[in-house]
Amino acid sequence: MIKTHRQSLALSCPQGHWFTADVLVTLNAGVDADLLYALNADGSQPITCPACALSWSISEPIGVFLSATDAWALLVPHALLHRAVELRAAALQQLRTLPPAHINADIFDMPVRSLEAIRELVQRTSAPEAMRAVSEAPSAAGIARAFADLDSVPPPSNRK
Ligand SMILES: [Zn+2]
Repeated sequence: MIKTHRQSLALSCPQGHWFTADVLVTLNAGVDADLLYALNADGSQPITCPACALSWSISEPIGVFLSATDAWALLVPHALLHRAVELRAAALQQLRTLPPAHINADIFDMPVRSLEAIRELVQRTSAPEAMRAVSEAPSAAGIARAFADLDSVPPPSNRK
């Protein structure tokens, strides 16, 4: 079983307080799906300063293990996508140093993916059928929106 791995990083908050925080380096999406969903929509990791409680985010690539398909993807936050190729090379160098419990050989094939793409892959491959049906069921608002145009459609010419 591939384990999620965090690394302690020295960070300073926008107010200048220094502290160390555990930042995700790899994530097993099958075991720790909650961590995948705790990320910000742009793929960055939320951080809160222990001194002043200010919240902001840190953009770091994360190797995501998609256990359902036994494949890896490198999650690159939006802010870093323009450096994706360079970051992938650096991430592979770093991941090579992790103990075997955190990686496997397939990690070296991992393509760069956005958080949206990874969440979609996780949902498609690991969600039970029942959950998928619920998540794909249209909401009442969605139904109302889909039919909103019908109110303004003129009746066919052979009707009054
Ligand atoms: Zn602070």
